Amino acid sequence: MSTPLEKTDVAIIGAGPVGLFAVFECGMLKMRTAVIDALDAPGGQLTALYPEKPIYDIPGYPRIDAAGLVEKLVAQAAPFHPAYLLGQQVTSLSPSADGGFRLATSAGTAIEARAVMIAAGVGAFGPNRPPLQGIEAYEGGAVRYLVTRRDEFRGKRVVIAGGGDSAVDWALSLGAIAAKVIVVHRRDKFRCAPESAARLKAMADAGKVEMVVPYQLEGLEGDGTLLAAVIVKSLDGEARRLETDFLLPFFGLAMTLGPIAGWGLNLERNHIAVDPTTCETSTPGIHAVGDIATYSRKLKLILTGFAEAAQAAHAMHARVHPGEALHFEYSTSKGVPSG
Ligand SMILES: Cc1cc2nc3c(=O)[nH]c(=O)nc-3n(C[C@H](O)[C@H](O)[C@H](O)COP(=O)(O)OP(=O)(O)OC[C@H]3O[C@@H](n4cnc5c(N)ncnc54)[C@H](O)[C@@H]3O)c2cc1C
Repeated sequence: MSTPLEKTDVAIIGAGPVGLFAVFECGMLKMRTAVIDALDAPGGQLTALYPEKPIYDIPGYPRIDAAGLVEKLVAQAAPFHPAYLLGQQVTSLSPSADGGFRLATSAGTAIEARAVMIAAGVGAFGPNRPPLQGIEAYEGGAVRYLVTRRDEFRGKRVVIAGGGDSAVDWALSLGAIAAKVIVVHRRDKFRCAPESAARLKAMADAGKVEMVVPYQLEGLEGDGTLLAAVIVKSLDGEARRLETDFLLPFFGLAMTLGPIAGWGLNLERNHIAVDPTTCETSTPGIHAVGDIATYSRKLKLILTGFAEAAQAAHAMHARVHPGEALHFEYSTSKGVPSG
């Protein structure tokens, strides 16, 4: 198989909100970017975990849905024409002979860059899988650990397992459009916002969702592609068969740095230690921004990540364009490219 080679000024690892804004910041300083993400859509946690939730602390937006913010960030980055390499994880990062860096992805893409911006959020985040025999065959089809398109579940039967915010929020949301929603949880009490628990109870009382508690997932029935039923068991061993089209297990995310842990960077409790004035890591030319970057009194917020992207872009300019003076200019004076 041939290996396409992308050459760019800055390789941005992660297309979450911070990686997307980093495209803009680099673009304003005339640095070309390639953005690589393991997920097949941009937006990071906003797309994967809470696309329909309103966010209230983005400056200038009293309220904006997570998916709406991602759309605006993609539009803001568009004039700089980043190369999006989605659905592929960066598996290796090493110095190249010319003083830059070489990255390789799980899809076999090689990328050469003068500098690297790691905006990898919580790292390679993957779902905690329920230990059900044969579940792998259904993953991505009848078994989903995240909902990216709510409308797929319209008119379908859905079993939602879990007792946290994601399980309850999706039960509330899908309860309005699915043919049937069954919530399976191993306790009577839910670990979610009290008002969400109250809304769920009201929906159950109105017959819009069925509560199967306290029960645990026990097995799957189906042909390996289509699911016929989910088998659940109560704590005293009583089994029930729940006919369904989809199983959505929401047991939280396992957060690991994944391949990043092996790149020789200084780490602090699963985060990358950076100098907050430049966001540079222990390796010159590699910067880390957003949730993955840590320093004293770090606030893990989207707006913090935006500022870090600006700091990092300015700091890496000298490496990308050696010998070129960097004159600080406001966007109001510079403008953005028109097309
Ligand atoms: C339910 C919920 C509500 C929240 N509400 C708010 C809020 O109201 N306000 C607020 O400011 N923040 C909020 N947050 C936090 C906010 O979502 C994060 O601070 C933000 O997503 C961090 O952005 P990021 O770009 O650094 O990382 P992420 O959004 O985590 O994106 C990182 C991306 O990097 C990719 N990646 C990781 N490793 C690799 C690799 N090796 N190769 C390729 N790709 C890789 C991942 O797939 C991911 O897409 C909330 C979080 C949650 C879970």
